[in-house]
Amino acid sequence: MNIGDIEKNVKNFNSKILFYYELKKTNWFNIGGKTKIFFKPETLQELIGFLKLYNERGKIFIIGAGSNVLFSDNIFNGVVIKLSKKFSKISLLNNTTIIAGSGVLDKSLSEFAMENNIGGFEFLSCIPGSVGGGIRMNSGCFKREFKNIIISVQAIDSLGKVFTIPTNKINFEYRKCDLSDNLIFLSATFMGQIKEKNKIQQEIISLKNKKGLSQPTKVKTGGSTFKNPLNQTDKKVWELISESVTSGIHFGEAAISEKHNNFFVNKGNAKYEDMKKLINYVKDKVMLKTGIKLDLEIILVE
Ligand SMILES: Cc1cc2nc3c(=O)[nH]c(=O)nc-3n(C[C@H](O)[C@H](O)[C@H](O)COP(=O)(O)OP(=O)(O)OC[C@H]3O[C@@H](n4cnc5c(N)ncnc54)[C@H](O)[C@@H]3O)c2cc1C
Repeated sequence: MNIGDIEKNVKNFNSKILFYYELKKTNWFNIGGKTKIFFKPETLQELIGFLKLYNERGKIFIIGAGSNVLFSDNIFNGVVIKLSKKFSKISLLNNTTIIAGSGVLDKSLSEFAMENNIGGFEFLSCIPGSVGGGIRMNSGCFKREFKNIIISVQAIDSLGKVFTIPTNKINFEYRKCDLSDNLIFLSATFMGQIKEKNKIQQEIISLKNKKGLSQPTKVKTGGSTFKNPLNQTDKKVWELISESVTSGIHFGEAAISEKHNNFFVNKGNAKYEDMKKLINYVKDKVMLKTGIKLDLEIILVE
């Protein structure tokens, strides 16, 4: 992919554009090589301008909080786009409706809803992602998902066209949605119910406690590696892994968390290939022992 003319043409942009940028620090796994271009738009106009200039000449990957992605150690032959703080605005539309930029962290959205006595957003306090990632993944926990609170999504396509998509046009399923991969979500509108702040606060504390008991914190991980194979068995993926894989298995510094065996962790300086070997090893062992095919929840970016 030739980026020479991009380097020339973006000189008057106010947004951050870096070439051969290290991706490690952009994600929770703390793994990954460089990307040919890293673009952090400061305004919608510059995002549109960049997309028109780039004109789909190479890959485009949009990163949110980086809590669900695993980047290869090779050079990413394209652009990684991360929305700047300017896309993290949050405001109240009426007493139960919130509009939030895609860069807003789930926990900030949950807090904002609590401060405004809006219930239904409590589960978001347990997810370390952003609104953009949450839409793409239909993220959720404790039997609640993005699809339960979202009413529309504002997006831009890879050629710079902006539009709004109501959720009756979106098919949300378990940890995925059918919106095209070439869309960048800009913001979303959410709706909850009136609820007393104190009650919301109590629920958030209780959910966080539950989560803290079963999942590791302060580790380099992408959360659940595999999805629960809902259509194949009633068993949870962690049960299948514990039946099939001997504990303590690791490849280099890529290991299985001792607290939750579906969380894979970078114990220090794990390589992408180590993490992939671990993923494939667990997948093969589960298939061999149970006949169940596991699908990844984390997104591999090569
Ligand atoms: C400790 C830990 C606990 C976790 N617990 C949970 C949990 O309980 N429930 C759960 O569902 N997940 C959980 N996760 C996974 C993760 O937090 C969620 O999937 C989260 O919603 C991802 O958001 P993100 O902003 O980090 O997205 P990223 O990881 O940056 O990206 C994920 C996907 O979303 C896309 N994306 C991100 N932003 C945009 C945008 N603006 N426009 C278009 N596409 C975009 C990316 O291209 C990618 O395909 C956990 C992860 C960790 C590390």
